[in-house]
Amino acid sequence: MDNMNLKNIPFEGVENDKRYVFINDLDSDVSRWSKAAVDYFDLPGEYIENIGDLWLRRIHPEDRQKYEEDLRAVFDGKKQRHQVDYRVRNKHGEYVTVTCSGVVIMGANESGKVFAGIIEDHENSDVIDSVTGLYNIYAFMQNAEKYRKRRKEALLLIFGINYFSDINKNYGFEFGNHFLKLFADELRQFACEGVQLYRMDGIKFCLVMEGQQSFAPEVMYEMITKIAYRGYDIDGVHVSFSVSGGVVKVEKGSDIGSSAVQASLSYVWEKSKENHLGELVYFDNEKFGSTQKNLEIVAEIRNCVLQNMKGFYLCYQPIVESATGNVCGMEALLRWKHPEYGMVSPAIFIPWLESDPCFYQLGEWVLRQAMTDTKKILVNNPDFRVNVNVSSQQISRSGFRDTVCNLLEELQFPAENLCMELTERVLSLNVNFLRQELEFFKSLGIMIALDDFGTGISSLNLLLELSVDELKIDRNFIKDIISNTNQQTIVETIAFCAKKMNLSICAEGVETTEIKNYLEHYEIPEQQGYLYAKPIVYEEFLEYLDRGTDALSGQ
Ligand code: C2E
Ligand code: MG
Ligand code: MG
Repeated sequence: MDNMNLKNIPFEGVENDKRYVFINDLDSDVSRWSKAAVDYFDLPGEYIENIGDLWLRRIHPEDRQKYEEDLRAVFDGKKQRHQVDYRVRNKHGEYVTVTCSGVVIMGANESGKVFAGIIEDHENSDVIDSVTGLYNIYAFMQNAEKYRKRRKEALLLIFGINYFSDINKNYGFEFGNHFLKLFADELRQFACEGVQLYRMDGIKFCLVMEGQQSFAPEVMYEMITKIAYRGYDIDGVHVSFSVSGGVVKVEKGSDIGSSAVQASLSYVWEKSKENHLGELVYFDNEKFGSTQKNLEIVAEIRNCVLQNMKGFYLCYQPIVESATGNVCGMEALLRWKHPEYGMVSPAIFIPWLESDPCFYQLGEWVLRQAMTDTKKILVNNPDFRVNVNVSSQQISRSGFRDTVCNLLEELQFPAENLCMELTERVLSLNVNFLRQELEFFKSLGIMIALDDFGTGISSLNLLLELSVDELKIDRNFIKDIISNTNQQTIVETIAFCAKKMNLSICAEGVETTEIKNYLEHYEIPEQQGYLYAKPIVYEEFLEYLDRGTDALSGQ
């Protein structure tokens, strides 16, 4: 082998610890690799004959095609410079992302053609998931920005393994990793031209499809569910599992940022997992109006939570005693205002954020703010109560007990003056777990109310399973009560049951004096609604309290 040409080319000075050099004599197909490259990529030697196949096998299967295409374009003279990012295995067997650039250099008289290149290692364990070798969520976010610039139509299929923590718990972490690797290896079959596969946060994966694809997302999802159902045999243990998934469509020409796309992916995934037993859920562009705008708002809200609750504040709505009209408490309701988007109703952002980890912080902020404000009212009204809406995201965290205890202690707030309102959405939690948590809070003296009672199919079930102190009848049963006999029957039945069970009740959405008077037919000790006051900021609420029930007029 005549290596003279290659030997004479100096490598020194070009290379550093993240940059490797190689040169390939195209006539003899012998390549020379720098010593650092030989070590880092565990190559058979400094001089290698026919490196092509060996190198291709080291490249991640999903990246081989783009690597080969780019190289071919250079050798066919269609492109001046080879430049492509791909994942390649290093000496530890890990995939690292590199940028490989190279040019063909002609010898003096058409002979001695060489291909010289540099491989830059991005040490990108930060864009590669070390367990599966797939691109991770950071790569997803970077690429989402690229997709955004191309403004092409894209379909995103997100799916995740249900109850994966049970696998880790029962068989250990190593086993769990092995399992994930097997699953990821099988998922690679879906990645091809125009389809990228990512491992997202936790145990979720995402397939991004650009342009026309041979499989529709629902077909892919069905194949994935079958893989899950069939399962894997690992170390003599058979594990089958289930998945939940959803689809988000990015319209052609749309300009959606990566965090907005991520928010909608989380949303469909959570919906599939919690409400649809793993059935594929489609992001409903209609329901959310202009997808782009709402997604951007949600992303911005999330940013604001991280920026110390920027733009968030609380309003309070009075709760009055039906018999006397006296204000006996208030409900804290979250508001968000933004210089560009204006006021955004919690009815829009709460369903989105409730399952987002950032909501925990926000929920804690709401509790602190509501308790701090109420503390001042307690000086003259020691029985006054504040109702705070609490989400399943909060209850489900093991730290929530401590958070609440610490707040009570730090603010010296009497637990009896706090009521937690829960909606049926907490049912996504295990009922035994929920019962224990509620018992704990009740043992401190905190009251528990079931919000929006009667709207969901499981309200009665919750009532049977959990011991609560109060029911809040949803305003849908109140608004037409004067004329609607069905509503009358339901309210009458709820009032009857509550009395039997020794529970308090509050009617929500009392908008007119006629409704208020009509409700005297039933034993409903408390009322809340626009008749008394809309949710108002704290200072206005204090004025309202001072004015007493005379304040009814003018609201
Ligand atoms: P919710 O807890 O059932 O709160 C009552 C909602 O009914 C409030 O809407 C209130 O403004 C509205 N409302 C009260 N009286 C009337 C009335 O007479 N007529 C009509 N049409 N509406 C009335 P809002 O403030 O838009 O809140 C919507 C939901 O967002 C709340 O329903 C609650 O589930 C959730 N939410 C608000 N703040 C928080 C919070 O801090 N944490 C959590 N987890 N959820 C919250
Ligand atoms: Mg409420
Ligand atoms: Mg309610």
